[in-house]
Amino acid sequence: MGEHIETDLLVIGGGSGGLSVAAGASQMGADVVLLEGHKMGGDCLNYGCVPSKALLASARHAHAMTAGAPFGIAPHDPLIDYAGAKGHVKSVIAKIAPHDSVERFESLGVRVITDYGSFISRNTVDAGGTRISARRIVIATGSRPFVPPIPGLEGVTCHTNETIFDLQERPDHLIIIGGGPIGLEMAQAHVRLGSRVTVLEWAAALGKDDPELAAIVLESFRTEGVAIVEGAQAERVTGADGEITVHTKGGGTHTGSHLLMAVGRTPNIERLNLDKAGVAHDGRGISVDKRLRTSNRQVYAIGDTVAGGLQFTHVANYHAGIVIRQALFGLPARATAHHIPWATYTDPELAQVGLTEAQARQKHGIHLEVLRFEYGQNDRALAEGKTRGLIKVMVHRGRPVGASIVGAQAGELIQTWALAISSKLKVGAVANMVAPYPTLGEINKRAAGQYYVPRLFENDRVKRFVRFIQRW
Ligand code: NAD
Repeated sequence: MGEHIETDLLVIGGGSGGLSVAAGASQMGADVVLLEGHKMGGDCLNYGCVPSKALLASARHAHAMTAGAPFGIAPHDPLIDYAGAKGHVKSVIAKIAPHDSVERFESLGVRVITDYGSFISRNTVDAGGTRISARRIVIATGSRPFVPPIPGLEGVTCHTNETIFDLQERPDHLIIIGGGPIGLEMAQAHVRLGSRVTVLEWAAALGKDDPELAAIVLESFRTEGVAIVEGAQAERVTGADGEITVHTKGGGTHTGSHLLMAVGRTPNIERLNLDKAGVAHDGRGISVDKRLRTSNRQVYAIGDTVAGGLQFTHVANYHAGIVIRQALFGLPARATAHHIPWATYTDPELAQVGLTEAQARQKHGIHLEVLRFEYGQNDRALAEGKTRGLIKVMVHRGRPVGASIVGAQAGELIQTWALAISSKLKVGAVANMVAPYPTLGEINKRAAGQYYVPRLFENDRVKRFVRFIQRW
């Protein structure tokens, strides 16, 4: 019979969400046990956000060598060491890994067990023979790539984001199934590192974002040579590694040397034995209420395991804070999604917070105002040659309810609007902010300023009033 541990808080899963809960709770005095059966840091550190941004950084350097002509720098073809770029990816992971390591968490006072957990009752979990009973349990087991049962897939190597970063030989022609953020980030990384790339997308690529802004990204991809085929549902795969053919519904065929599947994710809940704990779930994940409590009130679920939730590292971290407030301080914190931003780190970047224009029009009808401003009117964007871009801010009764940005640094610029929405600021707060000149950040201020154009500059009453004051 193994050890039986009793603890205040048991965290199952050592990815972004679980590590945030464990670090926060133990530093605030709780007795915490953390289970991780695979890699500390989870998908984000090992297979997701970190390696993808590192590979995109290599790709950006390669691209810059070809794009200097307008700046007076003779372009030339970069000598690309694909394995070297993968070495950069590995080195970035290695630099961040100590922060997420077993050693660091043990130094914070967390008891880390390197095994998978499985419920044996409503408040007890077994991990490799050790039983852990806890007053509160947090499920943070994340998600993994969904690989649909496409006939023929078993006959070829089908990469996912869990294997593509280990690939050392550059794909001659990478076929990517799925035109969401993973598919498109990997498409641009590979085309810039010298592969031919074809993206097959069932519906519309970047379909969760504003279509007007997504179109600007897609046009830029096509200019760089990425073939994006929309309305192409992958149905069947034939051939062998090196010459893989994907057949799409309606008779299309696309042949490439390598295959990457990026059609969404599936929650990691199978090993948990959730029924033993009375935790309700379905194929999409675990059902929770606004406070992230499952059907077993002692058990919370956070991040990608939550059914129907937004699947982002920053959402898992946000959820961690919601759980800590409740489990440690007894405060009735609630998770909301209206202020959660996201960004796709392509060039140009694409970022969103709150409602898109279409969602806002549906919700607010004629009371909606959409403020627009183009990157081409920003002096810094002109200096940097980054004029391809656009911001839209959706405003209802003087307050922003959504913002969409495509262009350089969109993931940074969106943060002003994430703050405005989460703090319920008026659009005037952004318009009145003094931004350093010349920065891309002025795009936010100028967009906000558009709110006052019809009210101040195109308003006869204002003009009459000003003339009157001048005479007085
Ligand atoms: P996704 O769900 O965002 O996109 C998958 C795409 O695949 C969809 O557009 C879908 O229509 C298409 N598809 C599904 N089946 C298909 C088929 N048989 N043939 C052709 N196309 C098919 O999924 P993803 O890109 O894998 O990303 C997974 C999650 O991770 C998402 O929630 C995403 O937002 C998140 N993510 C975010 C970032 C970021 O924030 N930068 C980066 C990567 C992933």
